[in-house]
Order: sequence, then C-alpha cells, then structure tokens
Amino acid sequence: MGKVFHIASIPGDGIGPEVVKEGFKVLQEIEDQDGSFRFESREFPWGCEYYHKYGKMMDDDGITQLKTFDAIYLGAVGYPGVPDHISLWDLLLKIRKSFDQYVNIRPIKLLEGAESPLLPAYHDIDMLVIRENSEGEYAGAGDRLFQGTPDEVALQTGVFSRKGTERIIRYAFEEANASGKSVTSISKGNALNYSMVFWDEVFQEVSEEYPHINTYSYLVDAASMFFVTDPSRFEVVVTSNLFGDILTDLGAGLTGGLGLAAGANINPTREYPSMFEPIHGSAPDIAGKQKANPLAAIWSVSQMLDFFGEEEWGTKVLKAVEKTMTDGDVLTPDMGGTATTAEVGTKVVECLKQMK
Ligand code: ATP
Ligand code: MG
Repeated sequence: MGKVFHIASIPGDGIGPEVVKEGFKVLQEIEDQDGSFRFESREFPWGCEYYHKYGKMMDDDGITQLKTFDAIYLGAVGYPGVPDHISLWDLLLKIRKSFDQYVNIRPIKLLEGAESPLLPAYHDIDMLVIRENSEGEYAGAGDRLFQGTPDEVALQTGVFSRKGTERIIRYAFEEANASGKSVTSISKGNALNYSMVFWDEVFQEVSEEYPHINTYSYLVDAASMFFVTDPSRFEVVVTSNLFGDILTDLGAGLTGGLGLAAGANINPTREYPSMFEPIHGSAPDIAGKQKANPLAAIWSVSQMLDFFGEEEWGTKVLKAVEKTMTDGDVLTPDMGGTATTAEVGTKVVECLKQMK
C-alpha cells in the first residue's frame, strides 16, 4: 500500500462532530476507490465539553501531540457557557499560531446548484481569497489608557512586519502563477497611513518579481461594493487579517451561506500541519438534531486533498458536492430540504460512486 496521510481530527463542539463524521465518510469512500493511498486518523476529544471536565480546552502537551500529523481536520469550537476568548484562544488560535499557519485560504466560488442572493443568473463568482492569518489588526497589540477618567483611550495596533507582509503577498503571487490568474490586493492606504501604505509598497515590490501577472489594487470599501456588483473581476485576492475576515464572510453570503463555506489554515513550509475547517461555528441552535449542512465540512475535505497533492480527488469531491445540490433531492433545511446531516453525507458518497 502506498502513501499514508495522517489526519488529526478535532470534531469539537455543537454541530462540529456531526459534520466531521460526514467528511470522514467521504474520505473512506476515496480510500476504498483509490487504493494508492490511505488515511490514518486519530480523534482528539478537545473542546468545550473537555473544558468543563478538565478545566482546559486541550491537553497541555496538545501541540506536541498534533505536531507529527499531515493535517488537522476541525469541526467547530465554542459553545455557550465557555467564554469565546477561552475557546478561541486556547484551542483554535493556539494551533494556528503554534504551527505558523499564516495563510488563510477561502475559496469564494459559486458552485453549480448553489443559490446566490445576487442575480439568479450570476454564475461567475470564482475567487480565492488569501487572508493574512498571523498578524495585522489581530496581533493582540494595544493598550487601555487613562481608564476611569473622561480622557480614557483604547488603542488597537495593527502589526505589519516586513516578513509577514511579504510572505503572504508572495504566497498569493505563487498561487496566481500556478493557476494563470490575476492578483488583487485589497487595502486602505488612503486612511491607514502607516500600515496600509506599507502593505501597498510591499505589494508593489513583490509584484515586480512577477511581471507577467496582472495585478490590481482596491481600497477595501470599493472592493466591498464590487464583491456585490461585479465579483467576476476578482481572481486571486490578497488582503490583511481584518479585511480578509470581513470580506470572506461577505463572500460566503454571496455564494450560498455558512453551510457551504470552507477555509484552510496553511503552513506553506509544511514543517507543521495545516488545518482544514468549515468556517461556520458550532451552531448551538441546531446542534444534536442532524440538521447541520455537512457540505462546508466536505468542501474542507476537498481542500485537504488538494493540499495532499491529490488534486484529482479534490476536484471530484467538489463535483460531488455540486451534483448533490443540482440533484436537490437530499438537502438539509438551510438549503430548503428535509434531509439529515448523515443523509447528505451519504448522498455525496453516492455521487462519488457514480463518478467512478
Ligand atoms: P462562531 O462565533 O463560532 O463563528 P456564530 O455565532 O458566528 O459562531 P455559527 O455557529 O457559525 O454562529 O452559526 C450561525 C447560525 O447559522 C447558526 O445558528 C445556524 O442556524 C446557522 N448555521 C451555521 N452553520 C450551519 C450549517 N453547517 N448548517 C446549517 N446551518 C448552519
Ligand atoms: Mg462567526
């Protein structure tokens, strides 16, 4: 038997375990069909329930335990009863930081069969948003001054290192280079006169190394408008942590909503594992009811397969997701259907079988 891909699974909270289970169904089918590789996975019971039992979100040596895996497959983390700053910082952000997953990739692509609130006929949304994932406005730098006085001031500093800015922009150019697409930088140099002026300079410098690639630059306000009025003008998009956070949720809204949006946290050096997850949260309102849409989690599996170098399978999985939606007979309530989470997962597997 050929290659083995080691996957650490963290199903997490709420609907996380329900959707991750369906992702593994798909992986199992691929393993059965292919035969040239297999997946070896280990499940980690970390999350908010673990926190209630042991007073921590993950084992103290959790990062060490995860280190040797090729990828981490995560469901959702966070639940009422555990403050967000604990569930987020002590698990998700800890993993992202420890493994230097400085690239956040979100495909904003309107799949066949998915519904956009834009013109029904609008099917030309296909961009890859590369969000800086390690610094910027989310670096945690700032201060609270003169607290309790009328002169109180809160400061939140955007941290943009040359190393951090260059590497994310270069990553976007490499993506565009490989796919023959343009690169658009989204920033705000007119108002953020230190950080974004610097970002624009670095973008200009790196772009000179790729003279054959078309580049565009937008202010984030204008870009937000064009995401809605003319999304076809964007291909590979590179942007800061904060702008990327907002724009990708806007993009998710344009392409079928939370039940259909996936994201990857990548460490391009491959020194440490990368992490794949649906971007939705634990959705306590529908947790445990088999109502969650597993298609976002299954799209994450497609991204994971691409990352493993099994792009043919990555594409097939996405096609199976599209077939599930165009058939339309087995869909969860958020997509207007009455099927359960497990039934949708099984449907995707059936579509994969038909594509053999
Ligand atoms: P977080 O803070 O963890 O991002 P959130 O408060 O933003 O969480 P989510 O848990 O992502 O919220 O979900 C918001 C709502 O969207 C849920 O309450 C649920 O109704 C719906 N939703 C999210 N994910 C799915 C899904 N996979 N299938 C169906 N509905 C979903
Ligand atoms: Mg959210």
